[in-house]
Amino acid sequence: MIPAMDASYDAIVVGVGGMGSATVYELARRGARVLGLERYDIPHDLGSSHGVNRIIRLAYWEDPAYVPLLRRAYELWRELELRRGEQILVITGSIDAGPAASRTVAGSLRSCAIHSLPHDALDAAELRRRFPGYQVPSDIAAVYQADGGFVRSERAIVNYVEAAHELGAVIHAREPVLGWDAGDAGIVVRTAVAAYRAPRLVLTAGPWTAGLVPALHALARPERQVMLWVQPRRPELFRPGRFPVFNMETPEGHFYGFPIFGNPGFKVGRYHHLHEQVDPETMDRACHPRDEEVLREGIRRYFPDADGPTLAMKTCLFTNSPDGHFIIDRHPAEPRITLAAGFSGHGFKFCSVVGEILTDLALDGRSRWDLELFRLARFAS
Ligand SMILES: Cc1cc2nc3c(=O)[nH]c(=O)nc-3n(C[C@H](O)[C@H](O)[C@H](O)COP(=O)(O)OP(=O)(O)OC[C@H]3O[C@@H](n4cnc5c(N)ncnc54)[C@H](O)[C@@H]3O)c2cc1C
Repeated sequence: MIPAMDASYDAIVVGVGGMGSATVYELARRGARVLGLERYDIPHDLGSSHGVNRIIRLAYWEDPAYVPLLRRAYELWRELELRRGEQILVITGSIDAGPAASRTVAGSLRSCAIHSLPHDALDAAELRRRFPGYQVPSDIAAVYQADGGFVRSERAIVNYVEAAHELGAVIHAREPVLGWDAGDAGIVVRTAVAAYRAPRLVLTAGPWTAGLVPALHALARPERQVMLWVQPRRPELFRPGRFPVFNMETPEGHFYGFPIFGNPGFKVGRYHHLHEQVDPETMDRACHPRDEEVLREGIRRYFPDADGPTLAMKTCLFTNSPDGHFIIDRHPAEPRITLAAGFSGHGFKFCSVVGEILTDLALDGRSRWDLELFRLARFAS
């Protein structure tokens, strides 16, 4: 039986993962009475934000328009660290590498030029000399940018939730949202155990977004990913301080990776791993020899001193938009609902600033940021 409606909230946030935890915190910080609803544990390893860490980098090859948002994201991560007394950001420097004309290298240089970012353009020999974990062929060019590094993603979620609690937010885990209805008296959110009403709703449901907003079915598509940790043969070359995080375009795919941190071993992934569109309810979360093989291939060719025993593997989910840019907007039919989805494998570093933007949109109806790149209307044609 559904208990009586609880209508004591100013805002409800559905999904307390990366984006949702930052949003619950920011809403509470601005004085809103906020309820966060999460279907699994907090944190958990079935969505998009687990696996210790996520790369953050300023020389954004995807589009220079992200750079001002990144600057704000760094500021807000630092604020969270100060508030909580825990390190969330680890700065290692970042490498963007590939053929000189590749999107990764040319795009990274473009962002550096447009936003006057200090950087070093390296040829392969210089890259190998400065960071000997990288044993790349001579046709690889690289951009080193000293502000790159990673966000401790699971700790970021934990710390946002703890900070939100300190500010009076109410958060329920293990309470899946089944649906919502928008009416004159507010938005009613139904879960398996209760119904809640608030004047505004924020949807940050990651790979499950289309289940709550069917209109996003073709615009926020979950894709299976795999992360691999291996024991380097020469671990001293793969430690923070010696080994910057990287993105590298190669004929075998676009690899990314991290120095040893958190879990034992050197962590590597390949963007769009095996190009598997999946349903998060039914996807295969086991890891298989074929998953390891494609990642090993990259390690063997470009990081041979890391090619030691396997230590861990995990599956994870991207949620891809058609153009790879985020979706941050009002619900197409209901302006009291704000949504954020389609982070396309590069969203975590922005959680801190996305939490601020979603709070602006939910409370004030607008944000000081230029959100054109993220509007749903861009897909209208
Ligand atoms: C392998 C991998 C590597 C990545 N690397 C990077 C990187 O280096 N740098 C970077 O910036 N980004 C990276 N990303 C992308 C980044 O991790 C994601 O963009 C980000 O985690 C998305 O956060 P989210 O809040 O949208 O999703 P999630 O953190 O998954 O949160 C969504 C939450 O909503 C909950 N939920 C869903 N439906 C319901 C419901 N009905 N009721 C209640 N709760 C619900 C889910 O349980 C979940 O907790 C990577 C992603 C993967 C998978």
